[in-house]
Amino acid sequence: MSRARDALPAAPPIAAIATPPGRGGIGIVRVSGLDVAALITGIAGRALAPREATRVSFRDARGALIDSGIALYFPRPHSYTGEDVVEWHGHGGPAVMRLLLARCVELGARLAEPGEFTKRAFLNGKLDLVQAESVADVIEAATATAVRAAARSLSGEFSREVHALRDALIELRAYTEATLDFPEEDIDLLREGDVRERLASIRERLARVLARANAGVALREGLAVVLVGAPNVGKSSLLNRLVGEEAAIVAAIPGTTRDTVERQIEIAGIPLTVVDTAGLRDTVDVVEQLGIARTRAAIARADVALLIVDARDAASDDAIEALARELPPTLPRVVVHNKCDLAGVAPHVRLDGGEREGVSQSSREADCHVWLCALTGDGVDALETVVQRIAGVGHAGEDAFFARERQLLALRDAATHVERADAHVGADPPPVELFAEELRMAQQAIASITGEFTSDDLLGEIFSRFCIGK
Ligand code: GDP
Repeated sequence: MSRARDALPAAPPIAAIATPPGRGGIGIVRVSGLDVAALITGIAGRALAPREATRVSFRDARGALIDSGIALYFPRPHSYTGEDVVEWHGHGGPAVMRLLLARCVELGARLAEPGEFTKRAFLNGKLDLVQAESVADVIEAATATAVRAAARSLSGEFSREVHALRDALIELRAYTEATLDFPEEDIDLLREGDVRERLASIRERLARVLARANAGVALREGLAVVLVGAPNVGKSSLLNRLVGEEAAIVAAIPGTTRDTVERQIEIAGIPLTVVDTAGLRDTVDVVEQLGIARTRAAIARADVALLIVDARDAASDDAIEALARELPPTLPRVVVHNKCDLAGVAPHVRLDGGEREGVSQSSREADCHVWLCALTGDGVDALETVVQRIAGVGHAGEDAFFARERQLLALRDAATHVERADAHVGADPPPVELFAEELRMAQQAIASITGEFTSDDLLGEIFSRFCIGK
C-alpha cells in the first residue's frame, strides 16, 4: 500500500450504477463520499450497521417504495475508496437502477465519472497507480492467463518489485550524495567495488522486472505471427491447424493464397494474430504480385516469423536462406519443416546456436527448427510451445506482469539512466555529479510507475479509460 496522499477537499459524494447495463438478477448502485449518513437515511429510512448486509426498502422523496434489497455500508477509511461507501443491491433492471441512482443524486450525490471510485482510492492512498490500472485490466482481461497476470499486479506484486528497485536506487544515491560535499573522496568512492556491485544488482533487478513486464505486454496485446514460405509448402494448412477451422483455402495448386489471411487465436493465454501470406516467389501475375506486397507489409509488422519449408526438400537450407533474406534481421523466427509424414521423419524440435534451453527474442543465433505435419496436426503442440517461449511467457504466463506501455517506457528509461551511471563509474576520473544525476533520473522514472510523481493530465488519461461505477 502506498502512503496516504493529501486529504481531498470536501467533494460531493459520487454515485453510479456499478453493474453492467441491461437486465440481471441483481443491480448495484454504489455511492462514495466523505459523509453519506444523510443519503443513507434518505433512502433506507434508518442508519446502517457497518459491513453488515441489511435488508431495507429503498424509498423516494415522498416515501414511496422504489425497490427493496440489501444495503452495505463501509465507513471510511476501511472501504474501497477510503471514503464512506454505501452499496444498494436491488433488482437488476435498467428502470429500477435509474430510479435508485436518481434518488442518490436528489440526496446530494453527483454522477461518477469513469474510474472515479478507483481514482479516489488512488488519491486516498488505498492503491498505488500500478494497482489502480490493474483494476481495469482484471475487468478487461480477455483470457484466463491475462486475468491471473492482472490480479498479480493488483495484489501489489509488481508494485513491490518496483518499490524494491526504487529503494535500492535511493540507498545508492544517499551513499553517493553524502560524499559530494567532500570532493577529495569522490573519486575513491566511485572506484570502490561496492558502488559497481550495487549498480550491477540494480541492473539485474531491473532486467528481471523488464522481462516480466515484456511478457505481460505479449499477454495484453498479443503477438503477430507471420507464416512465410514458398507456394504449396503448407502455410494455409498450418494456419488452419493453429486456428482449428478452415480459415484459408487449401489447394494443391501453387499460388492459391493470393492475399493475406488473418486469424485471431490463443496459445496458452497469449492472443496471437496469425497471418498466412501469399507465397513469396517471382511472378508476372499482377494479383499475385499484390499479394506478395502484402506479405512484405505483414512481415514488417510481425513479432515472430514462421518460415515454412517442405521437409522433403533437399535444398531446404537454400530455401531457408532465401526466406530469411526477406525478414528483418532482428525478427525472431522458427523454421517449420512441414510434411514430415511424407519425408518419413517423426515430429521433433531442434534448437540451433548458442542457446539450447529456450529461444530468446534477441538471439538470431538461436534459430529453432520444428518438424511437423500440418495435415494431421502432429507436432503442432511443440510449435505452440516454441512460440510461447519466444513471447517470453513461461508456462501459462506464470510470472508475467500485466504491464502497460507507460510502465514499460518508464522501466526502459530507468534502465538507460542506470547504464549511463555505470558508464560514468568506468570513466577516469569518474564524474561524480553526472553519476548522481543519472541515479536521480532513474529513481524518478521508477517512481512514476507507482504514481508517486504524476501529473493531473496523466491521471485524467488513465482513469478516463475505466468503466463507470469502477
Ligand atoms: P500453401 O500454398 O503453402 O498455403 O500450402 P497448402 O496449405 O495449400 O498445402 C498445399 C498442399 O499440401 C495441400 O494439398 C495440402 O493438403 C498438402 N499438405 C499440407 N501440409 C501437409 C502435410 O503435413 N502432409 C501432407 N502429406 N500434405 C500436406
